[in-house]
Amino acid sequence: MTSKTLNQFLNSNLQQLKQNGLYNEIDTVQGANGPTIHIHDKEFINLSSNNYLGLATDERLKIAAMEAVEVYGVGSGAVRTINGTLDLHEKLEENLAQFKGTEAAIAYQSGFNCNMAAISAVMDDQDIILSDALNHASIIDGCRLSKATIIPFAHSDMDDLRKKAKEAADSGKYKKIMIITDGVFSMDGDIAKLPDIVEIAEERNIITYVDDAHGSGVTGNGFGTVKHFGLQESIDFQIGTLSKAIGVVGGYVAGKKNLINWLKARSRPFLFSTAVSPADAAASIKALDLLINSTELNKKLWGNGNYLKQGLRKLGFDIGKSETPITPCIIGEEKITQEFSRRLYDEGVYAKSIVFPTVPKGTGRVRNMPTAAHTKEMLDKTLSAYEKVGKEMGLL
Ligand SMILES: *Cc1c(COP(=O)(O)O)cnc(C)c1O
Repeated sequence: MTSKTLNQFLNSNLQQLKQNGLYNEIDTVQGANGPTIHIHDKEFINLSSNNYLGLATDERLKIAAMEAVEVYGVGSGAVRTINGTLDLHEKLEENLAQFKGTEAAIAYQSGFNCNMAAISAVMDDQDIILSDALNHASIIDGCRLSKATIIPFAHSDMDDLRKKAKEAADSGKYKKIMIITDGVFSMDGDIAKLPDIVEIAEERNIITYVDDAHGSGVTGNGFGTVKHFGLQESIDFQIGTLSKAIGVVGGYVAGKKNLINWLKARSRPFLFSTAVSPADAAASIKALDLLINSTELNKKLWGNGNYLKQGLRKLGFDIGKSETPITPCIIGEEKITQEFSRRLYDEGVYAKSIVFPTVPKGTGRVRNMPTAAHTKEMLDKTLSAYEKVGKEMGLL
């Protein structure tokens, strides 16, 4: 018999979510998550993936993964510290360190998992973390897990950060202070002000932690936001994911050798969760080889992003303050934004609406994620759909 208490909890809360329009019906993609996708047997131009460089379906990565399956099988067999560390994992970590310009790197099973691992391995209840108000959910959870005091600062507001860093240092209450920020913020596509953050941190001996999940493969000619600003020597933790631009799955920290040694000794997901599969590791190694040796896909991504942005702007849409290929199209009111996205869907364009509480009230937007794999024709079709729906809804 299932628990009555559990049933009551689930049913009443699910009903509430549905009443408030917060229950997400999940669409199933039939086949690959490429520049076009099939859902409910219909084809769409896909502007909702994080597959920035199109690597999720790249032939070279597929071959690397299949070859790894032939040699190593499908599983790693154990956690990294028992005997799950295959030579593939070591090669992956060498590539990551080279990619990020650091002494060393450690790979995890996901970006989410990496934030669970790395923050709490270094910070504890005698410490304080200054965290950008728009940081990713996994950063927030990772901070909570550490039991450190968490003080959010207003998004990218360096005056607020400076003031809070001074208060934390002057209080004399904390052993360590850390500043944590996303490198690229995924809702607006804006870039963290890392030079100011480094300056503030250096004044007070503060640890710096940058999660560049949306920057790696994208900013800094593909090498990420830290490289974009030339700050490889100044940022202590460079976090990334292998699941967005890299196209596979996994996460990592790149940094100094002693930091990586500590994380290998102390971070719990490394010690207690099985290593990523051989196919995933091999495909990620291949992706990093491609990015280290050529900026071709990165250039294509930015070309497509700029083309879509210019087109939307020319039609008269507000595309916000993005500094990256992430292209929000700000519609405003929540219901109208959701209706806009639904009408694009009818026109064969899959771009999700993002509304309050994920973004502030009245700033609902349809978020477009152009990739290197989109063709001009796909982007032109997208712009035609935007124009049609915009006119029909009286927004243009
Ligand atoms: C997507 C994202 C993650 C999670 O990465 P996964 O590899 O998908 O678990 C972590 N941090 C940030 C900033 C992200 O955008």
